[in-house]
Amino acid sequence: MVETADTRVMVDCGFSVQEIERRLAQAGLTPDGLDALLVTHEHGDHLGAAGAFARRYDVTVYASHGTVHAARDARFPRLQEVSSDAPVAIRGLQVTPFTVPHDSREPTQFTFSDGDRELALMTDAGHVTPHMVAIAARADGLLLECNHDPEMLEAGRYPYRLKQRIRGGWGHLPNHAASDLLARAANNHLRSLIGMHLSADNNAPDLARDALARGVGATPEDMEVATQDQGFPWRTL
Ligand SMILES: [Zn+2]
Ligand SMILES: [Zn+2]
Repeated sequence: MVETADTRVMVDCGFSVQEIERRLAQAGLTPDGLDALLVTHEHGDHLGAAGAFARRYDVTVYASHGTVHAARDARFPRLQEVSSDAPVAIRGLQVTPFTVPHDSREPTQFTFSDGDRELALMTDAGHVTPHMVAIAARADGLLLECNHDPEMLEAGRYPYRLKQRIRGGWGHLPNHAASDLLARAANNHLRSLIGMHLSADNNAPDLARDALARGVGATPEDMEVATQDQGFPWRTL
């Protein structure tokens, strides 16, 4: 969820509608007040119940052309196709999609701005690109993928092909790549940083916190990661 004074949007909808409702209630929200549902790409943990949710609550879906066309359930009540690096205004919020290297049709992650502060969401990326570094360098808040620890992935229970997919250049960012991105971005005005999209099997929160801390030159105790069960509480930028 991203919210400004007059706008509230949800990004991705990878759970069941019922589970989304439960989680919204946990955050003190109802599904009615949403101005948009943004979808980053068609993988199930992101697009999942987007169609069902949008129909039930009559929400406009924003996604790239490729994402819409790769969706199994694309019966959206209202659809706004977006293009990378072309900002769209959703009431008082400016949303700018940007490309990341990921094995889906036309994935876009997003930056959000109210004209004052900028938040960047950056998950589902197989490697770090200069474009991602530039976005991370100017953000005031950053939600950054710390997907896996390569040694845990190697030793883990996933089948070989899935391991290759995750660690390939079009899969997911390992902890050390998140660290590298932060170091290259050298952003000294970053106000909020949260590790995202941690694998339950192939990562540990402490390892992700260590990596984030290395990247920004801070101590691991001050670093924060989202959990799969709870996410993270509201943050004000
Ligand atoms: Zn994905
Ligand atoms: Zn994902």
